[in-house]
Amino acid sequence: MAHEKTPVGSVRPSQLLWTYGPGALIDLPNLSVVTSGIDIWEKDRCNLVIENRLLAAVQKALGPQVESLRMPPISKSESNDTSSAEANVGVPVRPFPRWLRCVKCGLLSPYDSGLFELKEGYRRPEATRFVHQGCRGSKGDQPAKDADAVPARFLLACKNGHLDDFPWQWFVHSGPNDCKGTLRFFESGASLQTENLWVKCDACGAARNMAHAFGQLGKENLPGCRGRHPHLDQFEPDCDADPRAVLLGATNSWFPVSLSALAIPQAKDALAQLLEDGWSFFSDLESLDEVPLTIKLLKKTGS
Ligand SMILES: [Zn+2]
Ligand SMILES: [Zn+2]
Ligand SMILES: [Zn+2]
Repeated sequence: MAHEKTPVGSVRPSQLLWTYGPGALIDLPNLSVVTSGIDIWEKDRCNLVIENRLLAAVQKALGPQVESLRMPPISKSESNDTSSAEANVGVPVRPFPRWLRCVKCGLLSPYDSGLFELKEGYRRPEATRFVHQGCRGSKGDQPAKDADAVPARFLLACKNGHLDDFPWQWFVHSGPNDCKGTLRFFESGASLQTENLWVKCDACGAARNMAHAFGQLGKENLPGCRGRHPHLDQFEPDCDADPRAVLLGATNSWFPVSLSALAIPQAKDALAQLLEDGWSFFSDLESLDEVPLTIKLLKKTGS
């Protein structure tokens, strides 16, 4: 999915503030994605919010590099036609966790390993999903047929706010190793308790019970935190916190930080209000000729 955009679903603007902000995971019907950092949002599609006191409060908390406050990008039409340019206006997300599991054969691999294929849900973004191409079942004896792949539901998180893929390869081989075998997830027993979930390596036969990823055993069996920020595509070096295994969909994995201000109109007429609210834009102007365009721009951005 390097350059192509595929619509995968929709959320309300208020959900972007309170539930699915940058760094949060969105558990869609067939996919799990992380909301990307605002550095890769399309700024031109995000209307300005001109509210000087709120901007000052945000700058005080985050620093003077915050230039402006903006709304999320909103597409103008309600069309579900995923082939239109308008349908591609939105908040960028990427698949996370990156590891998927084939529901038929248990194959466990990153989504971009070449074993899975993205099937776009034309006209129905929420139907977009990954499939295991030519799956032949867990014993490899069935006719090749595409089977649905779902996100592997285990992740690593640390108290410093890092979130990473579960270290499947490391975990099943009990530490760092060069084995290139494909991994498989399987169940023993009737219930889906962690004690009944296993991961195994097809090549060397190493296998491990998922219960080893939790509690005291987890502390002994998991690698150190890599400092991953999946929404920024970055790794922060030198995190000293112990990562813990968490389940996808845990409600305590993301919290918003919010600041609010009460907007009280100060000036008596609309033009004076516009001047006051947009003063940071007017103060930069070099000639009178630039005024009408600035006013037009500010009006357009909904001030
Ligand atoms: Zn399969
Ligand atoms: Zn192996
Ligand atoms: Zn960490």
